[in-house]
Amino acid sequence: MPTQLTARPSDIPLNNLYNLLEPITVPKGKATFTNWGQTFTCSPSSIFEPENEFQCELALELARREGKTLRVVGVGHSPSDLACTNEFMLRMTKLNRVLEVNTEKRYVVAQGGITLNDLHRHLAKNNLAMINLGSISEQTLAGVVTTATHGSGISYGAISTNVLALSLLLADGSRVTCSRNEHSELFTASLCSLGATGIILSVQLEVEPAFRLKELQQSLPFDDVVQNLDKHVHSAEHVRFWWFPTTDQVICSYANRTLDDLQPAGSWWWHTFIGYHIIQLLLFLGRYVSVLNTWTANLAWWLVSKDSVGVNDSHKIFNVDCRYPQHTTEWAIPYENAQPCLRELRDYLQKEFKDPNGIRPHFPIEIRFSAADDIWLSPSYGQRTCWIGIVQYKPYGCNVPYRKFFEAYEDIVGPYQGRPHWAKAHRLGPDSLAKLYPHFGDFRRVLQEVDPKGMFANEYVQRHIMGKSVGRRVYKKNP
Ligand SMILES: Cc1cc2nc3c(=O)[nH]c(=O)nc-3n(C[C@H](O)[C@H](O)[C@H](O)COP(=O)(O)OP(=O)(O)OC[C@H]3O[C@@H](n4cnc5c(N)ncnc54)[C@H](O)[C@@H]3O)c2cc1C
Repeated sequence: MPTQLTARPSDIPLNNLYNLLEPITVPKGKATFTNWGQTFTCSPSSIFEPENEFQCELALELARREGKTLRVVGVGHSPSDLACTNEFMLRMTKLNRVLEVNTEKRYVVAQGGITLNDLHRHLAKNNLAMINLGSISEQTLAGVVTTATHGSGISYGAISTNVLALSLLLADGSRVTCSRNEHSELFTASLCSLGATGIILSVQLEVEPAFRLKELQQSLPFDDVVQNLDKHVHSAEHVRFWWFPTTDQVICSYANRTLDDLQPAGSWWWHTFIGYHIIQLLLFLGRYVSVLNTWTANLAWWLVSKDSVGVNDSHKIFNVDCRYPQHTTEWAIPYENAQPCLRELRDYLQKEFKDPNGIRPHFPIEIRFSAADDIWLSPSYGQRTCWIGIVQYKPYGCNVPYRKFFEAYEDIVGPYQGRPHWAKAHRLGPDSLAKLYPHFGDFRRVLQEVDPKGMFANEYVQRHIMGKSVGRRVYKKNP
């Protein structure tokens, strides 16, 4: 009704609020949430799927009146319980429009719920592209911004460093645009906010003219790569490594902008039939005979070990096939600590491989690099960064052992001033985090200013940022 749609949400009677929200409320029986990795599941008391910004305001108003917290989510690709809640959930994927494209000044303004894949399509039509990307483009733009999602390239920052301005809906129902010049503290906090400063309605993002990347891949011994790390890392714009510890080899990827013709790499038979289906079957069998994991890892390395060259549109080279649901952990360490940390991790793994009862983890270990930035909670805050990420696949969604390996890894990476990826499960609380992030206190102060009642603080935020004893046990963790 027009009078209701123009009314301020706080003036709308409760019954009318329910009626207005009803069309965007997910039916009770379907109101569950499971993250992409199939590691966390929750049952929010209500899930709303707004189609316009006013409906976000309505959901926020209802949360305020009912004393609920409101967790804003994208597509649930965070491997931890970061997106989980048992209270209200606001799924932003229908707020997915591009609002402005400026080819001259090279920026785009898009709603927070747009997926990167959709954004690439719009940008390509305007001969533009994102400057850097992580391994996938399924996530929402706001999702990658609030977690400081990163790609690789020692001179390239996390995606949040390309954000020019944000439009936010705050806990009190007001809207604010923030940037480096306007509400700058709120801006710096929101560039890696874990969804806690407010609802990101839109993002102004710096982009560049569309480009192709030429990627060279080669397999090199671990010792060569680690000994000459600086040379490798600086030998191309975007360098990343996939280390296969069972072979002691590292697949090195070097990608540069190019004007060369398209040259897609790989074949369906190799990458999909053997590389995907056969490997998944072997990983499944490895649940029962763990030594099989070593052979599977060796086979997987062999499949990709031949030198290769590919030329493609930027996002097709940046993105890779992340395969199966998975447990994952990733930590950022100062670049200067990368060599000793990687060597210590190798020593640990070699010891395990020699032990008949030792762990037989999956492959590979992904190693990437980022430039320093000034975003308060970015793991690259104030330091060039080496990221070390570990995955343990869940073949056909079935669980595999991973805790022993992840905990040993965390014990290794911690003393090297490791900072965990916010979207991936970790054990650090506010005391440890405050030692790692000089502006941790400022972040909490801004949260107190914009959301004194903690309306956007789900259990993850309460646990890791506020230090409240809220266990992950509130969620059913998939077996
Ligand atoms: C296969 C895979 C590959 C990945 N690769 C990389 C990688 O290469 N590099 C990397 O750094 N990370 C990577 N990630 C992590 C991923 O980028 C982040 O978890 C990202 O946040 C997921 O986006 P999402 O839309 O799924 O957000 P969700 O998981 O749904 O939510 C994540 C956070 O964003 C907040 N949020 C979402 N929308 C809004 C909004 N509109 N306003 C305010 N807050 C909001 C949520 O509250 C939550 O805190 C990967 C994850 C997977 C599963």
